Amino acid sequence: MCGIVAYIGHREACPIILKGLRRLEYRGYDSAGVALLNGALNVYKKKGKVNDLEAFIAEKDTHAHIGMGHTRWATHGEPNDSNAHPHYSTSERIAIIHNGIIENYAALKTHLQKQGHVFQSDTDTEVFVNLIEEIQKQNSCSLEEAVRLALHEVVGAYAIVVLSKDDPGQLIAARKGSPLVIGVGKDEFFLASDATPIIEYTNEVVYVNDYEIAVIRDGKLDIRTKEDVQQTPYIQKLEMELDSIEKGGYEHFMLKEIFEQPRSILDSMRGRLELEAGHLNMGGIRAYERKFVNAERIIIVACGTSWHAGLVAEYLIEDLARIPVEVEYASEFRYRNPIITERDIVLAISQSGETADTLAAIELAKSKGATIFGICNVVGSSIARATDAGAYTHAGPEIGVASTKAFTAQVTVLTLLAMIVGHKRGTLTDSKLRELMVELSNIPAKVEKALLLNTEIEQISEIFRDVPNFLYLGRGYNFPVALEGALKLKEISYIHAEGYPAAEMKHGPIALIDENMPVVVIATKDSSYEKVVSNIQEVKARKGRIIAVVTEGDTVIPPMAEFVIEVPATSEVLMPLVSVIPLQLLSYHIAVLRGCNVDQPRNLAKSVTVE
Ligand code: GLU
Repeated sequence: MCGIVAYIGHREACPIILKGLRRLEYRGYDSAGVALLNGALNVYKKKGKVNDLEAFIAEKDTHAHIGMGHTRWATHGEPNDSNAHPHYSTSERIAIIHNGIIENYAALKTHLQKQGHVFQSDTDTEVFVNLIEEIQKQNSCSLEEAVRLALHEVVGAYAIVVLSKDDPGQLIAARKGSPLVIGVGKDEFFLASDATPIIEYTNEVVYVNDYEIAVIRDGKLDIRTKEDVQQTPYIQKLEMELDSIEKGGYEHFMLKEIFEQPRSILDSMRGRLELEAGHLNMGGIRAYERKFVNAERIIIVACGTSWHAGLVAEYLIEDLARIPVEVEYASEFRYRNPIITERDIVLAISQSGETADTLAAIELAKSKGATIFGICNVVGSSIARATDAGAYTHAGPEIGVASTKAFTAQVTVLTLLAMIVGHKRGTLTDSKLRELMVELSNIPAKVEKALLLNTEIEQISEIFRDVPNFLYLGRGYNFPVALEGALKLKEISYIHAEGYPAAEMKHGPIALIDENMPVVVIATKDSSYEKVVSNIQEVKARKGRIIAVVTEGDTVIPPMAEFVIEVPATSEVLMPLVSVIPLQLLSYHIAVLRGCNVDQPRNLAKSVTVE
């Protein structure tokens, strides 16, 4: 959500910033802008895409070695030119870019207006930069000191970068609750919301922590807390390849990521599933193994697709490890005074590791003494750092806004976790464990096979491209898959879709079924197969258009369905990893056929860093 890029060094800043903003486009945004410091402090900004901004500044003076750029995802004030970032202070001597929300902006604004500050936008951000200006004036202090004091007055979440005309060789940044990474080059520094704009220049990075202020000048990086205590920057090596953030010949990142799944699932098991040696490892839980074995309850907190992975985990953990599991929307959990004890384990799942509601839920659970285990994809992310222990999904950067490979990697890691804990607790026998290990190691090949359905699914998509509604039904392990299939379709094709437990259909959604309603039923051979067949009959009796996802070789369902998609057989507990593949492809092709922007769907942001 929103992107920040900044540069200070010997190169031309503007091309680096524009390229960086393009790398961050996947996060979701509605306007873009840059500020360039070169004696003058010039701000250029535009509603729309980075291309619009680039066209706008084509004739302008963009020469500078220091600058910053922003892609805005509007929270306060509609997306338009004046609300786009950067924002000037009233004197136009200071400029700011900001990711996040300043919650007490209204009171601050009233106060600043009384001091004579004039506002050009409706944003909370413009208040921040005027506050810095006011503090600097009142205290006759340095910009750095003014930023530091301002951090004591703002309430909310932010990652900011500040430039001032009066400090022509300096760049200041700070964060609380929104991500900020500094790339350390040779006599140059790159700042960004995530590492994707940085990796082509350097693989040495410093993750800024909450309430830290970074000042870069004279080729040096100085980091201090907001209490002004100097910190030693901890330089880490990035393990990201440039290829992983490029399309590699695919038309869209989403399609590339769907097709990467055989590899990304394998990567999420690497070093964890050792078939020959016959054991499972998960470094992250080693120290907490006893906690897991004795846990009275596991509470899973997540949002969106990660919440669906959490639902799969509920089935897995209860089935294999016999520990009661509750799956919670992080945003609901944190506001409803939940009962949490020291004996609970809270499992937080987030692709980006920056999801604001999930982070807040973690803080709440921590304050009640629970053990927090995180599952995220982005290394060094806030959730990875806020949890007691955890496991990375190792899916590689996911750029498509609609999550695909991160989902299957999450489910793989959660499967391994359930297997390890179940085996330790004695609820999963040696032979059952062995059987599942063999089957899990076959999953990448089965996903590969499911991907061969691509052309067939493209043809089915042609037929349904213009329908206004879809229903997705599944039972047991395939119920979360039905929810995920419906979410994918909504996200990128803007078709209304609902996922439902197949048997629940009778309690409401069945009223929607007529000859125009496509119903995707995930009806693979498992313990509820016969029941799902009955549900298909119920849909058919009402003339619904059935698209059935079945196990290869099924002869019962094909005569009942208008379209049949056959996926390879696997163990019931592993089926979501396979049955979700055709649903990802279906949503992708329908969206492409409808002319939608698959990788950057309207209104959506990749990592939701606001609450
Ligand atoms: N709250 C700010 C605004 O609405 C920043 C939004 C963002 O993170 O892009 O302008």
